[in-house]
Amino acid sequence: MSSIEFRDWDVLIAGGSVAGSAAAAALSELGLSVLIVEPDPDPGRRLAGELIHPPGIDGLRELGLIGEDSPHGSVVNGFAIFPFNDGEGASATLLPYGEIHGRKRCGRVIEHSLLKSHLLQTVQGLDRVSVWLGARVTGMEYEDGKGYAAIVTHDGEETRVRARLIIGADGPMSQLRKMVDISYETQRYSGMIGVEVEDTHLPNPGYGNIFLNPAGVSYAYGIGGGRARVMFEVLKGADSKDSIREHLRLFPAPFRSDIEAVLAQGKPLAAANYCIVPEASVKANVALIGDARGCCHPLTASGITAAVKDAFVMRDALRETGLDFEVALKRYSVQCGRLQLTRRTLAEELREAFLAQTPEAELLSQCIFSYWRNSPKGRQASMALLSTLDSSIFSLASQYALVGLQAFRLLPQWFSHKTPGEWFRGMLQLLAKSLKFQQDALSQALRAK
Ligand SMILES: Cc1cc2nc3c(=O)[nH]c(=O)nc-3n(C[C@H](O)[C@H](O)[C@H](O)COP(=O)(O)OP(=O)(O)OC[C@H]3O[C@@H](n4cnc5c(N)ncnc54)[C@H](O)[C@@H]3O)c2cc1C
Repeated sequence: MSSIEFRDWDVLIAGGSVAGSAAAAALSELGLSVLIVEPDPDPGRRLAGELIHPPGIDGLRELGLIGEDSPHGSVVNGFAIFPFNDGEGASATLLPYGEIHGRKRCGRVIEHSLLKSHLLQTVQGLDRVSVWLGARVTGMEYEDGKGYAAIVTHDGEETRVRARLIIGADGPMSQLRKMVDISYETQRYSGMIGVEVEDTHLPNPGYGNIFLNPAGVSYAYGIGGGRARVMFEVLKGADSKDSIREHLRLFPAPFRSDIEAVLAQGKPLAAANYCIVPEASVKANVALIGDARGCCHPLTASGITAAVKDAFVMRDALRETGLDFEVALKRYSVQCGRLQLTRRTLAEELREAFLAQTPEAELLSQCIFSYWRNSPKGRQASMALLSTLDSSIFSLASQYALVGLQAFRLLPQWFSHKTPGEWFRGMLQLLAKSLKFQQDALSQALRAK
């Protein structure tokens, strides 16, 4: 290796995918010079986020990273959720995003590698943003009173980059997080297997279909150009072929045949689902953003939207504090912590309700569907939480309580095939969870004060 060269930027971002590109565009608006370091600009097809909720798409548009119709993709109007208990041929419950100021809110689905390369290319064209492709952050050095500097390796050359702010946007397995010793809890839930098929028989076009099954969650949505993405969860220890067979039982027959034909032809894409909770999102002059800051099960398809929101929280904190980096990073840490807590709690609760095989989970799952079927306002409030439009833990707590009340509506039907004891145990669990969320909400509000 040759001798180390020194370079200065206001902001260094490790990772030029969704979180890194959004952060670069947002921070360059403040007049800051930004360097993105991206090792793998063209990773080829990868199974990862594609469905972007309205707050994410609106954010990317506002940052100038996405145009009305570029890159191509497909419009999404909300979720269509298929309950497991209704069995084969069941119809979905539609949860549309709804309207705001009389305008229908829409999200978008963009194939993941297309999204990444489009964002990176667009951000390269922005004033004050430089991008080093094929380079990666390989080390972090701490200097008393100055904070961290990053060692960037490119073609065997090392550069020491000093920056007022170093952002780790390097994904769920963030190396930067490790390099600065931010510890984290990690849990591997399951794997995901995905294929692309023709969208001719896709149910509920214009919606993200979610099929719930004790074998896991499966998804199907249009990605544009006459194609649809289908993904199947494979739980830990389960055989992937058996799991896919189990998932496919819930798919409408013609669509199932299309998928089986594609599966028979070749090797599908695969990914792992993690829940990662770092103990902090900020350390000295380093901040984590997007999946590096924490991720959860993709049930709510909100990772991209959350990453874009992080970028706005960071920009606004810096703007409001007049570029006082220390104070801004503290604000960022508190606000992102709130967003992430609500998102993670929601994904975990829904996953447990829909996948666990206990009478309590079954009661919760039935209450959720009953709430959605009977309350248009409930559908809208749930979709606001799912899409991160509403990320208040208070809202989650109150929605949970309203869902719990459905247990009384279900009482006659429940007693016809289950024991009263199971209903009471389920009710007690719902009540305990609802109280816990109220408590979380309260302690979060107190901490913020
Ligand atoms: C199967 C699956 C399905 C999903 N579906 C959805 C969905 O439908 N909707 C949704 O919103 N979310 C979904 N998600 C989540 C979504 O993919 C992530 O939240 C999103 O990609 C996070 O973006 P990111 O920029 O934080 O990280 P990533 O997309 O992981 O990007 C990290 C970047 O960092 C770079 N990098 C790595 N190491 C270094 C280094 N040392 N130095 C510099 N750069 C580095 C990488 O090359 C990469 O470009 C899904 C996830 C999975 C696994």
